[in-house]
Amino acid sequence: MQLLRPESPAEAVAALGDGAVALAGGTEVVPLLRDGILRADTLVHVAAAVPRGIDGTRIGAGTTLAELEVDPQVPDALREACRLAASPQLRAMGTLGGNLKQATRCWYWRLQYPCRLHGGDRCHAHEGEHREHAIFANDFCASAHPSDPAAALLALGATVRTDRRELAAADVFRLPTEDDRDVVALERDELVLELDVPAPDASVYLKAMDRRRWAFPLVGVAAARSGGETRLALSGVAPVPWLLDGPEALEAATPLPGTAYKVDLARALVRRALAALGP
Ligand SMILES: Cc1cc2nc3c(=O)[nH]c(=O)nc-3n(C[C@H](O)[C@H](O)[C@H](O)COP(=O)(O)OP(=O)(O)OC[C@H]3O[C@@H](n4cnc5c(N)ncnc54)[C@H](O)[C@@H]3O)c2cc1C
Ligand code: SF4
Repeated sequence: MQLLRPESPAEAVAALGDGAVALAGGTEVVPLLRDGILRADTLVHVAAAVPRGIDGTRIGAGTTLAELEVDPQVPDALREACRLAASPQLRAMGTLGGNLKQATRCWYWRLQYPCRLHGGDRCHAHEGEHREHAIFANDFCASAHPSDPAAALLALGATVRTDRRELAAADVFRLPTEDDRDVVALERDELVLELDVPAPDASVYLKAMDRRRWAFPLVGVAAARSGGETRLALSGVAPVPWLLDGPEALEAATPLPGTAYKVDLARALVRRALAALGP
């Protein structure tokens, strides 16, 4: 396996064009390679090609979660989503760009069951253990998106700049289908460079997890108020980060038998998040 270290976005994109894999902090790529889920002849270390740091509303995709959680320029919802993610060691290495593209934590997928996300024709979670799985859009694949920061970015109305376009953070993700099993709508060689995260009047991120620290979201709720508008977005409830039209939209959830408790969790967190935003 070879490791390339491009110094510009153009060089990085050219290197990725051959089916090579981008590597930032490596907290996701390295375990996937180790477990044989991801295969790559070439790794492209993008640290020198992708902006890092925070300047007002602009955040480089190479900024680590640890840097984000302590910077007062970053809206509360995103800071808190980063602070509550993973462990201090992982946050010191893991970048925002890499976090958005992390793969599902569905244990069937991680154990390489030939499930729909691996190209097969069954969702093993539907028939098997699915306590941590989705309550929305869970028909084809019931995985629950694990990113805390992504929910915050959706609620905050962030935009993402790649080497070839600008798009709403919500449009980075897509529900998997028979024709395309990916949950990320970016091209395989597309490099995330920067995010623009508008400053809200108030924002908050609340997270229910199995432990108080170092656990993926069972349900995470981000809420942001700007002007007269309040936006809600959830993690851990659908195969992609989930924009919620309002508290009443939770009544449209379609939980599996083992995930019905998540609807109650989401109701409580949404109520608390809206209260925390204040009038
Ligand atoms: C034990 C554990 C617990 C965790 N807990 C949480 C949690 O509670 N909440 C949470 O939100 N996350 C959690 N995570 C996920 C963690 O935050 C991510 O692994 C990390 O942010 C990924 O960033 P990275 O820089 O290490 O990415 P990498 O591992 O380097 O890359 C991850 C993916 O992103 C791609 N990539 C990286 N940078 C770019 C770029 N600039 N443009 C395009 N593609 C890119 C890579 O090719 C790869 O597909 C956890 C991870 C672990 C291992
Ligand atoms: S939930 Fe998705 S990733 Fe998990 S087994 Fe079903 S199809 Fe595979």
